[in-house]
Amino acid sequence: MTDGMNARELFKSHNSLTYDDLIILPGYIDFGVQEVSLQTRITRDIELSAPLCSSPMDTVTESEMAVQLALLGGIGFIHYNNTIEQQARMVRRVKRYENGFITEPVVLSPKHCISDVDEIRSKHGFSGIPITEDGTLDSKLVGIVTNRDVDFEQDRSTLLGEMMTTDLITAPKGVTLGDANRMLRDSKRGKLPIIDENGRLTALVSRTDIMKNREFPDASKSIDKQLMVGAALSTRPEDRDRLDALVESGVDVVVIDSAQGHSVYQIDMLRHIRSTYPDLQVIAGNVVTQDQCAALIKAGADGIRVGMGPGSICTTQETMAVGRGQAAAVYHCSLHCREQGIPVIADGGIRDIGHIVKALAMGASAVMMGLMFSGTSETPGEYFYQNGVRLKRYRGMASIEAMDVGGSKRYFSEDETVRVAQGVSGMVVDKGPIRNLVPYLCQGLKHAFQDIGVRDMRMLHSILDSGDLCFETRTQSGQREGGVHDMYSYEKPALGTRERVE
Ligand code: GDP
Ligand code: GDP
Ligand code: GDP
Ligand code: 5GP
Repeated sequence: MTDGMNARELFKSHNSLTYDDLIILPGYIDFGVQEVSLQTRITRDIELSAPLCSSPMDTVTESEMAVQLALLGGIGFIHYNNTIEQQARMVRRVKRYENGFITEPVVLSPKHCISDVDEIRSKHGFSGIPITEDGTLDSKLVGIVTNRDVDFEQDRSTLLGEMMTTDLITAPKGVTLGDANRMLRDSKRGKLPIIDENGRLTALVSRTDIMKNREFPDASKSIDKQLMVGAALSTRPEDRDRLDALVESGVDVVVIDSAQGHSVYQIDMLRHIRSTYPDLQVIAGNVVTQDQCAALIKAGADGIRVGMGPGSICTTQETMAVGRGQAAAVYHCSLHCREQGIPVIADGGIRDIGHIVKALAMGASAVMMGLMFSGTSETPGEYFYQNGVRLKRYRGMASIEAMDVGGSKRYFSEDETVRVAQGVSGMVVDKGPIRNLVPYLCQGLKHAFQDIGVRDMRMLHSILDSGDLCFETRTQSGQREGGVHDMYSYEKPALGTRERVE
């Protein structure tokens, strides 16, 4: 029996369909919602436990967003509407947030004084400092200073040599992280210095990291147990310096941020990255057709970012008349990319969980969202009140305001005297912390997978390919029926604040 249409039939007529135009028909449920896995890949090598990325926009992603989203299983892409140093510092802050072995701990010597510890605390946020003979790593460990050793001392010029603890519990180089964690637990100390056979400091393990690891089991981490972070750069030649600084800071993946990614500039940048940093994961885009995908994959892309014009703050389709309905763009691009083994990130136009489900059902491996994360506590910018409503600013990177700060790099208009904005600037309501929002999105996604009858992303894409995943298009009245209707009044709770079961 065939009911509904498979994706090939759905897109046969080449309507520029978008998420709201279609609906997914349910499948058969023979498993519990807790069995659903949202495990996915956003590039050839980068795996995440939640298919969620935050947009590289200056009102969405800086270190704070990137840290919190990575802890919850997604990944943040730090924007580049800033200096190279500022962006690199944000990347470093994410990489330093959680660790297994801290391989380059900040160290001091016995000749430094307490005020040096104060300075480190205000700059980096930690104060557990190993003391080595000459104040460098790989020199003999002679003591340790922590907050508790120095917090009551009035005279901040006191030398650390007088304050440090010298009977140390250490572990030998080569110890496994599991054993180091056990030693930390047993010793009840905050830090475990790791030393080589000559007593020289080689690394440090921190108790807080065991706690963080336990609290956030789904965190997106690289092999060294540091949180993963992405960063954006433009196609301009001067951003080759930005690239170097990002790599130096430990970035896990870069996205070449361009509104129309099929350009000689992007291909040059991709080739440059491939030849300079062969192992660095690179996401290229934005694209909406298969030819565009093919060109970027050929030039070395590890992931493809899809979307031209669906963004909430975006006026590209109106002003340029170039783009594609986002469901169609994601479907056609993913079809090609899947054959090449390259994941697609569906970027823009996500307003609710249902849109994420549809993006994944069209073949995307993850979504990238600006609007959804805008207004959360982790975004840059201050809250303010208007008519009693708590708001934050959210703006397109090609809005006049963002271009004034440097965002025009993405839209080829930097040298132009007349600037055509492709985005707007505005306000969104307070959405609270993403620690509520992201688990809500993930739980919603798991229920949707269950309704479709798939346990994971691989199964979803496999029934998409086999034609077993069925869809229908929705008329205007179908869409109206699918929303809340005919109520005298009702209240729709803000995303993420809907009942959360602890
Ligand atoms: P402290 O007791 O004041 O050092 O701070 P915590 O132990 O509460 O937090 C230290 C956090 O900073 C841990 O998550 C570490 O992984 C992280 N961190 C990153 N780099 C360093 C470093 O060089 N030294 C120390 N002490 N912690 C670091
Ligand atoms: P493996 O890959 O099979 O060795 O297992 P893991 O690397 O996941 O874990 C090894 C040990 O490190 C276990 O005790 C984990 O709980 C612990 N671990 C995992 N992530 C972190 C982390 O970020 N910080 C710390 N300190 N320990 C971690
Ligand atoms: P906290 O980060 O302020 O809670 O301090 P810690 O738990 O790291 O350290 C508590 C006290 O134990 C301080 O006075 C340290 O100097 C002392 N201590 C002695 N030996 C060690 C050691 O091997 N590692 C650490 N971290 N602290 C030690
Ligand atoms: P949203 O989640 O708000 O619907 O879309 C976010 C996406 O819109 C971003 O990831 C980015 O691709 C795109 N975008 C950001 N700023 C602008 C802009 O000013 N103009 C256009 N056309 N797209 C933008």
